[in-house]
Amino acid sequence: MYSTTDSQQTHILSLLKSNFGYDEFLPNQEKIINSVLNQNDTIAIMPTGGGKSLCYQLPALAIEGTAIVISPLIALMKDQVDSLTANGISANVFNSSQPQEEQQEVLKDLKNGALKLLYVAPESLPLLNDMLSSIKISLFAVDEAHCISSWGHDFRPAYTRLKTLKQQFPEVPLIALTATADRPTQVDIATQLAIPNAKKFIASFDRPNLYIDVRPGQNRNKQIFNFLAKRGKQSGIIYCLSRKSTEKLAATLKAKGYKAEAYHAGLTPEERNNIQDNFLNDRSPIIVATIAFGMGIDKSNVRWVIHYNMPKNIEGYYQEIGRSGRDGLAAHTLLFYSFADVIMLRKFAEGTETEAYQLAKLERMQQFAEALSCRRKALLGYFGEHIIEDCGNCDICKTPPKYFDGTLIAQKICSAVARLREQEAMGMVLDVLRGAQNAQVYDKGYQNIKTFGVAKDIAWRDLQQYTIQLLNQGILQIHFHENGRLLLTPLAKQVLFEGKQVQLANVVKEVEKVKAEKTTRIRADLFEKLRTLRSKLAQEAKMPAYIIFSDASLEDMEY
Ligand code: ADP
Ligand code: MG
Repeated sequence: MYSTTDSQQTHILSLLKSNFGYDEFLPNQEKIINSVLNQNDTIAIMPTGGGKSLCYQLPALAIEGTAIVISPLIALMKDQVDSLTANGISANVFNSSQPQEEQQEVLKDLKNGALKLLYVAPESLPLLNDMLSSIKISLFAVDEAHCISSWGHDFRPAYTRLKTLKQQFPEVPLIALTATADRPTQVDIATQLAIPNAKKFIASFDRPNLYIDVRPGQNRNKQIFNFLAKRGKQSGIIYCLSRKSTEKLAATLKAKGYKAEAYHAGLTPEERNNIQDNFLNDRSPIIVATIAFGMGIDKSNVRWVIHYNMPKNIEGYYQEIGRSGRDGLAAHTLLFYSFADVIMLRKFAEGTETEAYQLAKLERMQQFAEALSCRRKALLGYFGEHIIEDCGNCDICKTPPKYFDGTLIAQKICSAVARLREQEAMGMVLDVLRGAQNAQVYDKGYQNIKTFGVAKDIAWRDLQQYTIQLLNQGILQIHFHENGRLLLTPLAKQVLFEGKQVQLANVVKEVEKVKAEKTTRIRADLFEKLRTLRSKLAQEAKMPAYIIFSDASLEDMEY
């Protein structure tokens, strides 16, 4: 057993240098490593590129026995084993797709204690069961631990079997690592892995070198050409929603002379490996991919990420943009936002077991895309991290809308949330503020609380927009696992009790203005096309043509 002493520090620093070639730790690595060395169950939440692997690899070297690492992707495990082996560390993979002889080889090494680390897919873990109880295990590491939570966006049923690890091996420290977990998911990870007393380390999620840009999705291809024209041979990723659109866009880019490849789960493993290799070695610097691409990809010089379609939640979005700028140099991230994407994503969520939850997360993503205040504040606030200053490195900070002093409105909204004891979702909070005379309000006796009707002079839609702005400013938060009830963050307490000023934008007017301009332009274009079509019909078929269309469907049509 270790205690955190000077000699321990010297020891782990020398291991860091001699095995990995680094002179110092990245933020939080040292604390996490010490926690594991002191035999604590540990949860490490660090952004992508934060250096999570080292947090179990180094302890694996310092403790006697073999570390069992559970990891979701075979490709990912192979990469890790290759780089460990290159560093002279004995490590291997065990999974059910290996040839029999290879498996036997691994099992022999495991038995002889010849391996410092063994990477295992969760599905293959039961095959090792007997063996594990007969060897010395230094630690368990559960990588991409959010896969255990059905709340998470990458749920893997086999991960739920990991629950038994702690029952079977109560003495062996277990470390769970992930880059994506809001607070309820963190709790879920601890419950599912049966490590209620785990020490938790949450690194800052801020990636100040990423420029965050969100633009309307009209004429995306043209916007992308302009974007790429300024970026030479820089490496980047374009995320699309469907396999078909990755192929279409990659073909369009190739036709324009760019070295771009499509990547999706429909390709063979060999094709995917090739494409990935070409990307990693900068032979083909642009990859057009579905979200199947990227988990565990360690390429430091990705200079930009474009979301051709809106992701279905903020977790996925932040993880995907986080794949750029891992070397710490400036990177540009660009999200195209269109209502048509929202409609499509809603359809995907409908009818699933977690429909309400997914729709709520999607709505929050949409609100982020429509934000009128610092994007970084919104993103970090979402993950429970509250920054005071605007970042100066996003599209909104660069060209902010007009703000007014919204302190009083913010105080009213926050105090309604407080009076409702953080138990109600946005709809009810707004009803109470507006003094709505409806059954739901009266059933709960809310007409008697102090903030009832204090904002009745503000239109419902305006009030809703202001509340969304408070979410985006990290003043309020949504509890997604519990009916979307609104929560107050530490910033809300500053608004209520410490005179914190709040700037709000007059959204409805701004949004309405943009919408009106857009609709006029789209209509004019369409009418032009229809007129040409009609005269063609009249000429060729010698008959009059009538064209009837529904207005609502025009809004996001792409021509
Ligand atoms: P994560 O799993 O958190 O996304 P990785 O473990 O893949 O991150 O590490 C990301 C990169 O950081 C890797 O290239 C790794 O070699 C590098 N790295 C890890 N620890 C250090 C360190 N102490 N100093 C410098 N680079 C490091
Ligand atoms: Mg990792």
